[in-house]
Amino acid sequence: MRRVYLDHSATTPVDPEVAELMMTYYTEKYGNPSSVHSFGRETKAALENARESVANLMNAEPTEITFTSGGTEADNLAIFGVAEAYSKKGKHIITSAVEHNAVIDTCEFLAKNGYELTILPVDEEGFISVDDVAKAIRPDTILITIMHANNEVGTIQPIAEIGKIAKEKDVIFHVDAVQSFGKIPVDVKAMNVDLMTVSSHKIYGPKGVGALYIRRGVRVIPRVHGGGQERKRRSGTENTPGIIGFGKACELAAQRMAQDAEREAALRDKLLEGIMERIDYVKLNGPRGENRLPGNLNVSIQFIEGEALLLSLDLMGIAASSGSACTSGSLDPSHVLLAMGLSHEIAHGSLRFSFGRQNTEEDVDYVLEQLPKIVERLRMMSPLYDQVKHSKTQKANAL
Ligand code: PLP
Repeated sequence: MRRVYLDHSATTPVDPEVAELMMTYYTEKYGNPSSVHSFGRETKAALENARESVANLMNAEPTEITFTSGGTEADNLAIFGVAEAYSKKGKHIITSAVEHNAVIDTCEFLAKNGYELTILPVDEEGFISVDDVAKAIRPDTILITIMHANNEVGTIQPIAEIGKIAKEKDVIFHVDAVQSFGKIPVDVKAMNVDLMTVSSHKIYGPKGVGALYIRRGVRVIPRVHGGGQERKRRSGTENTPGIIGFGKACELAAQRMAQDAEREAALRDKLLEGIMERIDYVKLNGPRGENRLPGNLNVSIQFIEGEALLLSLDLMGIAASSGSACTSGSLDPSHVLLAMGLSHEIAHGSLRFSFGRQNTEEDVDYVLEQLPKIVERLRMMSPLYDQVKHSKTQKANAL
């Protein structure tokens, strides 16, 4: 059976060039980068080289990059770190209703422990209003944390405009760029960002590696204490093969970003068009055009449960993701889709397809061959779809 992977927003395969380089640092160049001997020094040099590659891809200085165990830890370090460092100035934090749980849950934890949270709404395409951000800022606001691109619907937020306001009002601005970094241009200086989270496994690097950009001069209290690695911001022996792999993945992303984006957007548009032609009662979630991640497609297929669709697709070898499946395995509809104003019922029937480097036109053709059949079969079990179809036929007959 054909296997088609369309879940690159969840994770990507490690690029063979990345894996090959990493292997050297597992078996041959395994020195501890803190050691003074030659084994340590060669690893340290490669680690610093990786730091430079990560920094280059976002227009930062290498000293502004702190490696972590991934996007989740970087989000936690940014939010807790600023909350603690600036608590004398105030305890008010601004975020949005469509953030990843790594941000929302961290902010909510703080809200239960003496901090105040403003959660900004989004419009029907998932955009935050820059005006809303400006209005929410108070004298005691210490942090604005807003994502760059949404992981479910691909909406790209007006980060540069929000950054400008944050700078004018002297409020620290953190951006979760896990889904955009390496896929679309990201420039911390042009976007006026103070802190930025990135992750390796979304861009063909290994899992369990990420980084936090910390602009020079911004204070962050560390969460992990110990040997003082990472300029005392994140202690613990560095995951050198992982970090070096992340650096290589950034170099490859810099070379391939434009061509990957163009190809993936074309495949994504072909799939959307094909779905719209073949299936009725389908809604595109998120915007069209350049303010959407190139590889992201999210649709709601009415009168069907997303989970049932996912399982049926999986039986045919197709890997996608459902907005309703949250990481904890609960079947609650996606908080992102609900924030965009979708009803529970429509949010439940949503599917995310996310494209990557290996996908081809044949993959899209295969999904377009399988998906309509699956939808038809599942809708046969839906009394609501039957009713809607029946009344439509009656209306057509009466004309
Ligand atoms: N932030 C966003 C927007 C994400 O999509 C993800 C992962 O899906 C994370 C944070 C967490 O990153 P990691 O898996 O590296 O911990």
